[in-house]
Amino acid sequence: MTQYKQIILAKGREQSFFRKHPWIFSGAIKQKDANLHDGEIVEVLSSEKVFLGIGHYQDGSIAIRVLSYEYTDINTDFWFTKISKAYNYRKAIGLIDQPDMNAYRLVFGEADEMPGLVIDYYNNNLVIQCHAIGMHLSIKDIVEALKKIYGSKLETIYDKSVESLPATYASQIKNGFLFGSNENTIIQEYGNKFQIDWVRGQKTGFFIDQRENRKLLAHYSKGKKVLNTFCYTGGFSVYASLAGASLVHSVDSSKAAIELTKKNIELNGITNHEAFAVDTFDFFKTSDTDYDVIILDPPAFAKSRKVTHNAVIGYKRLNAEAFKRIKSGGIVFTFSCSQVIDKELFFNTIVSAAIEAKKTIKVLHYLSQPADHPINMHFLEGEYLKGLVLWVE
Ligand code: SAH
Repeated sequence: MTQYKQIILAKGREQSFFRKHPWIFSGAIKQKDANLHDGEIVEVLSSEKVFLGIGHYQDGSIAIRVLSYEYTDINTDFWFTKISKAYNYRKAIGLIDQPDMNAYRLVFGEADEMPGLVIDYYNNNLVIQCHAIGMHLSIKDIVEALKKIYGSKLETIYDKSVESLPATYASQIKNGFLFGSNENTIIQEYGNKFQIDWVRGQKTGFFIDQRENRKLLAHYSKGKKVLNTFCYTGGFSVYASLAGASLVHSVDSSKAAIELTKKNIELNGITNHEAFAVDTFDFFKTSDTDYDVIILDPPAFAKSRKVTHNAVIGYKRLNAEAFKRIKSGGIVFTFSCSQVIDKELFFNTIVSAAIEAKKTIKVLHYLSQPADHPINMHFLEGEYLKGLVLWVE
């Protein structure tokens, strides 16, 4: 067995291990071996020197991300066991080998007991995004494990970690192919087709996390005038159109996103759609269409607690604009993917937006993230996507 360097916790700080929470904060450390480097695998001991687990070390507030509660070598076999567990979970919830669905999140970091690792699956292609340096240093073993799991069907593994790792480390690496060379593919989601471009697209190429919410939108779209703001690849737009909306408008400030939306609209043979490369707030100022359904799925307005206040102002303004413009008896799908804005704060913000717009709102559905982005109850920080479907009058 490999002997890893050791970290000893301060007295009483082993509690998080017993709760199976995967992070150890720097303040919990009493003593550590000399010359630890970022991403190094370490053994964690209690103040009484009892073995607690193995994890990735990284200088910073989250100092250790726990990988195992048993003493074990962190090698290809380790990753094969871990990722197979995540794969089998997706299989059990009906996401694998489906004829009309071939995109899912295979690994969702801490929730899958692999802190800092995200892997998305797009029709035999895998995109890896590391959020911890240790994961990136383990990437060769992870790739070997993935090849073993998917076998000859696997076409490509692409590493897209430059955007998600600390700048000092990220400046020394490049995004690129670890296996195969596909730059994009066409996936199906409940039979809706999307072209996914992981090389040029945002994040890993697609927001898989909205799958079930897009499906719900289809239920409310027949014969309706639908506005999809912050549309990115046009996910919600395609579902609304194919479900029989009378008209669909898509808005995104990024020209590249609008091009992707147009491609996906074409791919699905849709004709009653128009796309606008413009800021959502500007679009609201000029548009005079009486929409029946509006989708608000902005990027995270707050990435840290320091800017929570500004984010609340942003969400309030955006939702108030939508409430003012929607028909009486219209429906708003509104989301926040900011981790630091909790449900209660988000809901309160939406209420104040309704008051400002002089509308009343009723909840048709509370929305969240899908089961391939699991909410692990030992790590509630992983619950990030919040949504409401509102009846507005
Ligand atoms: N709803 C999408 C994901 C949205 S991601 C889906 O289901 O796939 C957020 C998008 O908002 C990005 O494409 C980004 O370009 C866009 N964006 C950011 N700020 C914007 C603004 N002020 N107005 C319009 N679009 C904006």
